[in-house]
Amino acid sequence: MATGPRQATGYVSAVFFRTQAPDRAAILLNRSVAPGGYAYLVVVNGEGMIAATILERAHDPHAQRALAVEAFEALYPDLAPSYGKSFGGIGQFGLPGSFRSGRGLLVGEAAGLQDALWGFGIRYAMESGRLAAQALLSGERYELALERALLPAARTSLVNRWLYQRGQDALSRALVRAWSIEQALRDDGLPYLRRLYAPDPIRWRLFGRRAQRLLADDGGGDGSRLRLGAQD
Ligand SMILES: Cc1cc2nc3c(=O)[nH]c(=O)nc-3n(C[C@H](O)[C@H](O)[C@H](O)COP(=O)(O)OP(=O)(O)OC[C@H]3O[C@@H](n4cnc5c(N)ncnc54)[C@H](O)[C@@H]3O)c2cc1C
Repeated sequence: MATGPRQATGYVSAVFFRTQAPDRAAILLNRSVAPGGYAYLVVVNGEGMIAATILERAHDPHAQRALAVEAFEALYPDLAPSYGKSFGGIGQFGLPGSFRSGRGLLVGEAAGLQDALWGFGIRYAMESGRLAAQALLSGERYELALERALLPAARTSLVNRWLYQRGQDALSRALVRAWSIEQALRDDGLPYLRRLYAPDPIRWRLFGRRAQRLLADDGGGDGSRLRLGAQD
């Protein structure tokens, strides 16, 4: 069963634009612009997008996107954007008690499987789909395959989210500083990011329960009141 998010624990609101500015990708980690999440800007061949991903449902995603637009326009005066369509979506994080529904195996976001820190779920969805198919064909227990391949990193990402939400601005500054230092020293910042995701059973034991509770308390909306399922 790959029917996607059922409950919203995260919201994205975005807008497309055209620009003469050069190609660019930027991320903005700031609590007043994107509470619990991040805003980003991408420009490729004159086509651009600004999005606000937020993870606290007390905030209006469209209003947060307007703040993101304002911030990126101020940071990059050469953007001179000509805005087009806007769109949005919801995401579901948090690991369920069971990865089954009746006789079906839950995969992807229907199972809450995605990176809980940044909301990246495409790889989780594809990999859990592959594992479910393999389990059906081979008779192997799906949960064991998930445990081997995906759950340790998913748990780490939940704890990362919990930590991030507790001190977004301070943690963002520390994260970006460490990332930049690694990038300068090794000419490659990816190993640093990989370390953030390394499965860590101790971190999970210490903070896992609180991380799950945070998502349960803060999520749980169906997203419809925010009209984010389609273009607005
Ligand atoms: C705006 C936005 C940007 C994102 N950017 C990224 C990114 O850059 N990188 C990344 O890794 N992840 C990103 N994600 C997350 C990623 O898109 C999802 O985690 C991933 O698509 C989940 O895949 P899925 O197959 O589980 O669910 P979905 O992609 O949601 O697919 C579920 C499908 O099932 C259909 N469906 C639902 N109910 C039924 C039913 N009863 N019968 C038949 N069909 C049904 C739905 O219409 C939908 O087509 C983003 C999400 C959003 C909203």
